[in-house]
Amino acid sequence: MINNFQNKFGLTKPILIAGPCSAESEKQTLETAHQLKKHENLIFRAGIWKPRTRPNSFEGIGSKGLQWLQKVKKETGLKSTVEVAKAKHVELALKHEVDILWIGARTTGNPFAMQEIADSLKEVDIPVMVKNPINPEVNLWIGAIERLFDSGIYNLAAIHRGFFTYKNSKYRNIPQWQLALDLKRKFPKIPMICDPSHITGNSNHILEIAQKAMDMSYDGLMIETHIDPKNALSDKEQQITPAELENILNKLVIRNFETDDVEFKATLKQLRIQIDDLDIELLDVLKRRMDLVEKIGVHKKENEVTILQNNRWIEMLKSRVKYGEKNGLSELFIQQLLKAIHQESIDKQNNVMNKK
Ligand code: PEP
Ligand code: MN
Repeated sequence: MINNFQNKFGLTKPILIAGPCSAESEKQTLETAHQLKKHENLIFRAGIWKPRTRPNSFEGIGSKGLQWLQKVKKETGLKSTVEVAKAKHVELALKHEVDILWIGARTTGNPFAMQEIADSLKEVDIPVMVKNPINPEVNLWIGAIERLFDSGIYNLAAIHRGFFTYKNSKYRNIPQWQLALDLKRKFPKIPMICDPSHITGNSNHILEIAQKAMDMSYDGLMIETHIDPKNALSDKEQQITPAELENILNKLVIRNFETDDVEFKATLKQLRIQIDDLDIELLDVLKRRMDLVEKIGVHKKENEVTILQNNRWIEMLKSRVKYGEKNGLSELFIQQLLKAIHQESIDKQNNVMNKK
């Protein structure tokens, strides 16, 4: 059932969703919408209930913003979408003819809230977009979508808005593209929309993330757009003007998902054969490495020595990162690779140690 539904999203690709982080006033909302209406099929977004981490910051204009959105629809013909976080929001949004609902990152990660929303949508036919949860835990994202499926909501899209990290990072929320690909693998028919605004947290980096998303065959973009970003009441660093949005859309290269060009296909096939061979080589090398690891495990066991020698591990990591960087491989990649190999090695030696 789950992978067998007809999805009405994605009829026009890329899907474009734009509008302010928050509806702040009737004037700001309408002016933004009027400046955006030239984009065909654009879906107008505006948050009216804003989940803020701390109280006493701007928490949204509340339900009166729904009337502004109705006016937007009437004056511009644009479809509208708002974030809902509980059943009451759903009820009010439906009453005010909002076209599409979206679930925010803080709500996706909350199974009680998700269940409440899903229950309120039984018997309702409205598209819903589900943002990834703040935490890099893809099962919360999957679970949120499954709850909506269980309520009969099949017209769904996922929004990739990046994940929280404690580490210093160029971006406000690190993309962790692999997690979005994990969701895509689970639900191949659900369109995937990228939100470069919340990933980057910075208006200067919107284009690079939007381009990456397009090159990864994403189905659309959600980009926060405000007539006066400097004075926005929320997320001012990442919002762009409608003119800047247009500029970005003009620069964006939308490549084909496929081509019928015979020469292209032949070359690609050739190169992929080489990749396939190299992957087998890689796995063979890893197998040989694990054989050695097991030998060391036996040796350690016989001499009653612990598996982990931290100094050796730290040294290894350092030297491999250095070597890899000389070959143009990033530090992050080497670290992730080595950590995965190291974990598997520890598990192997654990098996050796604990074998009766
Ligand atoms: C938003 O889209 O304005 C928003 C609150 O996003 P997120 O839920 O991704 O933080
Ligand atoms: Mn925002």
